[in-house]
Amino acid sequence: MVSRIRIGILALQGAVREHRAVLHRLGAETCDVLNPPDLDRIDGLILPGGESTTTGKLLLRYGLAEPIARAGRRGMPIFGTCTGLILLSKHINRSNQYSLGLMDTGVERNAFGRQANSFEADMPIPVLGDKPYHTVFIRAPYIDRAGPDVDVLLRYEDKILFARQGNLLAAAFHPELTDDARVHEYFLQLIK
Ligand code: GLN
Repeated sequence: MVSRIRIGILALQGAVREHRAVLHRLGAETCDVLNPPDLDRIDGLILPGGESTTTGKLLLRYGLAEPIARAGRRGMPIFGTCTGLILLSKHINRSNQYSLGLMDTGVERNAFGRQANSFEADMPIPVLGDKPYHTVFIRAPYIDRAGPDVDVLLRYEDKILFARQGNLLAAAFHPELTDDARVHEYFLQLIK
């Protein structure tokens, strides 16, 4: 019997339930990640949106920071959305908050200005196919610089909004808040 893919969702904070629902629709199993041993039972990990300073502190307090960083360095597929993108990044502009530092990227937080705290737009994302993808941004960060190992999957003006570095995937938007499961599907393909 072929066992199903099991995705862990970091459950310290944020949109855990929404990610879970999309993954179940795609036939994956999920489990909440709250303790280091949870990482041994999963094929991939999602770092959901939330507030990155707080999530970083909680990662340290729960003893998850170094185990997750190690799993990422060893090749475990990790997908960070919004706060998750910030936590994956090596550099966070003008901040000394904790990050896992796995992706060779620099990020600007809360980058779309105070007025436009959130917005939605249809964006072309070629790796997902021809149909544009409906992106939802909530006090979103963007990647403002990326090393040579980073594949840019969506750029808008000078902002990188979706990127991949090997086993690591980062989105500035919230794919768990739309009905279109193509971004999660793309993540599951990284595991298969
Ligand atoms: N602004 C948040 C931060 O800097 C991210 C927002 C989100 O995850 N929706 O952590």
